[in-house]
Amino acid sequence: MHFPKQIEIIEVGPRDGLQNEPIFVSTEKKQTLVKLLAKTRVKRIETASFIHPNAVPQMADAKEMVRFSVEQGLSFLALTPNKKALELAIQNHVSQIAVFVGASETFNQKNIRRTIDESLAECTEMFMRAKEEQLFIRGYVSMCFSCPYEGVISYDQVKKVVSHFVQHGVDEISIGDTNGQANPKIVYERFLKLREDFPQIIFVGHFHDTNGLALPNILAAIQAGVERFDASISGLGGCPFSPGATGNVATEKVVSMLHQMGIETGIDERNLAEASAFVKTLFK
Ligand code: MG
Repeated sequence: MHFPKQIEIIEVGPRDGLQNEPIFVSTEKKQTLVKLLAKTRVKRIETASFIHPNAVPQMADAKEMVRFSVEQGLSFLALTPNKKALELAIQNHVSQIAVFVGASETFNQKNIRRTIDESLAECTEMFMRAKEEQLFIRGYVSMCFSCPYEGVISYDQVKKVVSHFVQHGVDEISIGDTNGQANPKIVYERFLKLREDFPQIIFVGHFHDTNGLALPNILAAIQAGVERFDASISGLGGCPFSPGATGNVATEKVVSMLHQMGIETGIDERNLAEASAFVKTLFK
C-alpha cells in the first residue's frame, strides 16, 4: 500500500458545511468558528460563497466573512457560482475562488439551473477573468460517482467536465462524491484514470459519509495517489439540492485516521476538538 508522508486537508465546514443548515448562523458565530479552525493550523479554509442570498440565505454574509478572512490573514477560498459572484469576490479581495459543475446533467440542471454545457461556457469566461486577476482557481465536480437522479455516473461524464476545467487553466480539481454513494473500488479506479489522463493536475477527494464509507474511500483515493482532501468540521453539511445526502466527512475523523497512520496534516487535534465542540453550540 501507498502511504505518503503528508496529506493536505482543506476545511470546507464554514461554506460547504453551513450552506445546508436551514437555521441561520450569525456572522459572529461563523467568524468564531473560522477563528477556531485557523487555530488548528489547517492550511486552507473555505469561508464564504457569493451565491445569491435567495438561493442560499445562509451565505448572505459573504462580504463580511471575506473581510474577516482577509483581516485574519487566512488562506481561504470563496465559492463563486457565476460571473456576478466572481466580480463580487474580486471587489472583496478574494485570492482563491471555487466554481462547481455537476458531472450529472440532471443534477446540474436542478442545482445550477443550467445544462452542463451552459455551465462550462460560463466557466470559460470566469476563468479568463480570474486569470487576469491572478486568482487561484478550484474546480469542483459534483456527483462524480453516482447521482440521486441518474444513478451511476460514468467516467466519461466526469472526464468531460475535468477536461474543460484543465483546458481553461484550473489550479486544482475537487472530485465530489456528493451523495456519498461511492465505494473504495470505484474511487480507486476513477482517481487512477483521472491521474493517468491528467497527470499535471492536482486532484482533491471530496467525500460524504452517507454510507459510512468516507474513510475507506479516502484510503482508496490515497492509494491512487491523491494527497489533498476536503473535510468539514463535525461533518457539517450535505447539499440542499441533493436529497438524502448526509454530511461531508468529519475533519476530526480524517485527521485522526491519518495521524494514526503516521501521515502528517499539520493540524493540531486538540484545537480541532475545540472547534468541534463549538460547532455543537451553533444551532442553539
Ligand atoms: Mg460536500
